[in-house]
Amino acid sequence: MEQASHDVLILGTGLAGLRAAVEICIRSRGQADVALVSKVQVMRSHSVCAEGGTGAVMRPEEGDSFELHAWDTVKGSDFLADQDVVDRFVEKSPDEIRLLEHWGVPWSRREDGRIMQRPFGGHSFPRACMAADKTGFFEMQGLYDNLQRYSNVKCYQECFATSLILNGGRFAGLALYDAPSGEFVVLRGRALLIASGGLGNLYGFTTYSQTVTGDGQAIAFRAGLPLEDLEFLQFHPTGLVPSGILMTEGCRGEGGYLRNNKGERFMERYAPKMMELAPRDIVSRAEMTELLEGRGFPGPDGLDYIHLDLTHLGAERINKRLPLIREVCMKFLGIDPITQPIPIRPVAHYSMGGIEADIDGRTRIENIWAAGEVACHSLHGANRLGCNSTAECLVWGGITGAEIAKYLANGAGFSEVPAALARDEESRLFHDLLQQSGEESPARIRRELRTLMDRHAGIYRNGASMREGLERIAELKRRFRKIGIQDRSRVYNSNLMQALETENMLDLAEALLTSAVAREESRGAHARTDFPKRDDEKFLGHTMAYYTGGKPRLEYKPVTITKWKPVERKY
Ligand SMILES: Cc1cc2nc3c(=O)[nH]c(=O)nc-3n(C[C@H](O)[C@H](O)[C@H](O)COP(=O)(O)OP(=O)(O)OC[C@H]3O[C@@H](n4cnc5c(N)ncnc54)[C@H](O)[C@@H]3O)c2cc1C
Repeated sequence: MEQASHDVLILGTGLAGLRAAVEICIRSRGQADVALVSKVQVMRSHSVCAEGGTGAVMRPEEGDSFELHAWDTVKGSDFLADQDVVDRFVEKSPDEIRLLEHWGVPWSRREDGRIMQRPFGGHSFPRACMAADKTGFFEMQGLYDNLQRYSNVKCYQECFATSLILNGGRFAGLALYDAPSGEFVVLRGRALLIASGGLGNLYGFTTYSQTVTGDGQAIAFRAGLPLEDLEFLQFHPTGLVPSGILMTEGCRGEGGYLRNNKGERFMERYAPKMMELAPRDIVSRAEMTELLEGRGFPGPDGLDYIHLDLTHLGAERINKRLPLIREVCMKFLGIDPITQPIPIRPVAHYSMGGIEADIDGRTRIENIWAAGEVACHSLHGANRLGCNSTAECLVWGGITGAEIAKYLANGAGFSEVPAALARDEESRLFHDLLQQSGEESPARIRRELRTLMDRHAGIYRNGASMREGLERIAELKRRFRKIGIQDRSRVYNSNLMQALETENMLDLAEALLTSAVAREESRGAHARTDFPKRDDEKFLGHTMAYYTGGKPRLEYKPVTITKWKPVERKY
């Protein structure tokens, strides 16, 4: 076993993790010793895939305002967002856009030279600042390049975090499988930021990279931190069929249409005012209804689809604003969106829920913070608006970075890593798991789990089907105890890492469905056919799921409402 110590450990090098690292370096004048941990190389974090844009109020003089952005976000959230958190978010996000501008992000420009912003779903003003349709990539590059100025930052790349080690209720160390060396490593830290991203791969049809498996949520959950609002899983309206690759909302922001097999722009029936630019939960349900009622096109493997039609936008606009979309369509399907409609359907995209974190990103453990998609600051409530996530990563990357720098400056020390706990974890990995020779294949269990989630925890849900899903997860968990790992070597053992991911996914799937069954109402992305109405009397609250070793225990906490009482959502 190897050990190393750093002032602060940052688990995850996506937008949230990198933004926090830069902030800590700035605030500590490069003095803080920062360790970045990622199971992939830094620039392979999912954030590089973000396409459409980052939301911020940049033009008050043209009619936008913090108030309007906040209202759109609260209404989009189906009134489950904490309104103090939303206020803080909208006020801070423009500064992040300007910071990235200074750090070299090549924002797309208007004719007058100002940063271009395009319309996005559920926003009543064009707010998505963009670098063509490769926004995340350029934001990541800007942050990563910036970090190179600091010598006190160490990257542990291709290191897989397996658990948190606590001592007396405080964070002491992070247990890692270091894939390039094959070693078990414990990193000690005075503070930890969890910024390990989402959990999209719980689903079979998803926009997310294969690596996005909710590890951070799962290890925090098992360490005793509650997971908040996990039942709210966003389905994005436009996943390419059959791969699931995201066709950014920017396609509709640029003026794209959705059409059924009769050529109708069916959104007229569901959101007559905002049409294709209604919030994602509403557009995804509309598409699903069209498909269920037979107005879609037959697709492979049951993946019937709808058309995303950009043909009226013209070659120049598509080439300039949506070059990646065109390239992906041509390479993956051999179709050219300049002249042909794109086959799409709703696709699992984003987790509104995550590790409970307060408005400063602090969790219930004194020296652990969380930021980015892994966290639930209660900004998105029951449904996130497009382009608010990269903005959230930047804003709470900045906030948690500043909070952690303050905490370090106050002189907080290290906690001892209990030797027995570290030894137990090493033996769990290399003895219990790696040496297992059962007949069950972790890959098969993972595949079955993802299909099950598509079926039992999809856009439309009901109690009976979700309970069946839970029984099947319990069965998969039993089977997981009998897995065999084929590759027994220590170096770059992807079998081992995938087994660890599958174990995490099983715990999260159970927590998600348990939270979903208990919420007997429909709100935002959680649409129940057996409880089709929102029920503010009983369920205007955040679900908190706790790990017990068996069925997760649920509690609720109130929503912070400062200005806007819940009303009916109409678009
Ligand atoms: C295709 C796509 C397009 C999107 N487009 C937009 C958009 O245009 N606008 C918008 O606002 N949002 C968009 N989103 C959502 C947004 O990009 C994500 O929510 C956001 O980038 C997440 O960033 P993050 O920093 O939280 O995590 P990520 O970027 O996912 O990074 C997670 C990090 O954690 C590390 N990690 C995870 N588990 C472990 C482990 N066990 N051990 C070690 N390291 C680990 C990973 O290696 C990685 O470095 C999009 C998402 C997708 C999938």
